[in-house]
Amino acid sequence: MKARAAVFWGPGRPFTVEELDVDDPGPGDVVVRMSAVGICGTDLHSVRGEFERPTPSVLGHEGAGVIEAVGDDVRDLTVGDEVVLSWAPSCGECADCRRGRPAACVPLHRAIGAGTLVDGTTGLSLGGERVYRGTATGCLAERVVVSSRVALPIGSGVPLRDAALLGCAALTGVGAVLFAAGVRPEASVLVVGAGAVGQFVVQGARIAGAETIVVVDPLDGRREQALGLGATHAVAPDVAEPELLAAVADGVDYAFDAVGHPSTAELALRLTRSGGTTVIVGLPATGARLDLDPGQFNRREKWLTGTMYGSEDPAVALPVLLEHVRAGRLELAGLVGPTYPLDEINDAVEASLSGVPGRVLIEP
Ligand SMILES: [Zn+2]
Ligand SMILES: [Zn+2]
Repeated sequence: MKARAAVFWGPGRPFTVEELDVDDPGPGDVVVRMSAVGICGTDLHSVRGEFERPTPSVLGHEGAGVIEAVGDDVRDLTVGDEVVLSWAPSCGECADCRRGRPAACVPLHRAIGAGTLVDGTTGLSLGGERVYRGTATGCLAERVVVSSRVALPIGSGVPLRDAALLGCAALTGVGAVLFAAGVRPEASVLVVGAGAVGQFVVQGARIAGAETIVVVDPLDGRREQALGLGATHAVAPDVAEPELLAAVADGVDYAFDAVGHPSTAELALRLTRSGGTTVIVGLPATGARLDLDPGQFNRREKWLTGTMYGSEDPAVALPVLLEHVRAGRLELAGLVGPTYPLDEINDAVEASLSGVPGRVLIEP
């Protein structure tokens, strides 16, 4: 089988669109015709050279599309089904998977580091050379072959362009609030970073019934968007606005770092109240380190934790999110940013790096 895909050759080099050779679907696999694929912060880590991953590779792990073909042994999906891709297929066997934490799966993270699927293959080549897959998915392509376990049906009524956001940003951001931290009604919440994940943290906090939701982001457009999605305060990091100080004078109950940079994690921890919880949501670059005063954890009894992909099995979390979408509590369409065809992948990456509000999408 052939499929056009955006190929990443390494930091500082332009993507090219190539027609790749794709292995036919094996037993348990499906072919998904991609409709919309988001450019996630994780992809940008690769673009900026903050990860060491093999190239050439096809990035992209946040997408929605339509089932085009199914391999043998696939019973729960049929041609024409609309699906969202999950990038965390549980191996089902490691200790983390057995504890219900597929996003912490050791073989999965080994595969992500090696640029392969969990079984060690990539199923992609160009001129006989192996092509790798970003985040064990690689869906910046017209079509992908994936395990049927990662193609999660969404039913009808949610446009695929909007649904793409569910695949990473929404599961990560809303999941951080509802499943990882378990934010309680009337809580005070701080969100550092209002990219797509941060906007979903804001929405998760609103859904959880938080009373105060303070967003910190350097970009005007993102702060404005957060206010429209439920934030009660939005400030730039360098502005000590009286509003912010009044809102979080004693610190917040929950502070989410939606960026994953040491400076944003430290800000989140500093603004967490005694006994409160700091949650690292954004993915740090390889080699990132925190410099911490241990006194914050005993004298002030703070909790510092983190979450990957919302800390819940995506197959369990996605139906919960879809229910919020259908009830009008979870906004997707307003978070869709500029969209580009596959051939304009370089413009799309440029826009994403510039921090435009909303998720930049490719419609292959
Ligand atoms: Zn992602
Ligand atoms: Zn596992």
